[in-house]
Amino acid sequence: MKNDRYIRQILLEKDFGFSQERLGRATVFIAGAGGLGSPAAYYLAAAGVGKIIICDNDDIEISNLNRQVLHSTGRLGMRKTESAAAILADLNPEIIIKPKDALISGDPAELIEDADLIIDCLDNIEARYAINDYSIRTSVPIVHGGINGYAGQISFIAPPETACLRCIFPESFKSEGPIPVIGATAGIIGSMQAMEAIKYLTCSGELLKNQLYIFDGFTNESEKLQLEKNPDCPACGG
Ligand SMILES: [Zn+2]
Repeated sequence: MKNDRYIRQILLEKDFGFSQERLGRATVFIAGAGGLGSPAAYYLAAAGVGKIIICDNDDIEISNLNRQVLHSTGRLGMRKTESAAAILADLNPEIIIKPKDALISGDPAELIEDADLIIDCLDNIEARYAINDYSIRTSVPIVHGGINGYAGQISFIAPPETACLRCIFPESFKSEGPIPVIGATAGIIGSMQAMEAIKYLTCSGELLKNQLYIFDGFTNESEKLQLEKNPDCPACGG
């Protein structure tokens, strides 16, 4: 039987260098199944990334549901990885979904396995530092995303070619109380992370290397900041 699942994106192979075959061979590690991880995972699964490892260690709470569209009211209390795996497998049963119920800290190599790319959908700096150290050691790049309120940011992190996450966030910090966020902000930035991943995995399009793209939905302004490696960075410097 003819399978037209990817037909609309295969139309891009001729003029845009898109490659369904490359996507199908790729493995992506999605760090976090929350606000950013939801749209990122959904679009990467829909696009046919061959294997998606999705990692989280939380239960679904009702306050998650304004933005975490992988989850739903009927699955309150369920582990986020279990919920994510179920909905992604339902969306696309032709790919491998591997849920990892774990906290990212220390050396995450065992969680990340043989992933070609890491999607940073995290909400804490310590876990970001952990995937950053892994990325520096292995040269597996990271698509970083972050959100606050109506605004968000994204960058393609590929040390040693680019600044690392710690060059961008040199200090560990902890927000006081929950960060405010409009769900649509997570939708926009998470979708942009999926877009960046698809370009990298198919060797097509331009990547946000050494650039921090900032989108402010409140004013509809966006800008690209040029990033520089910090020669004194404790992670990638020297
Ligand atoms: Zn650095």
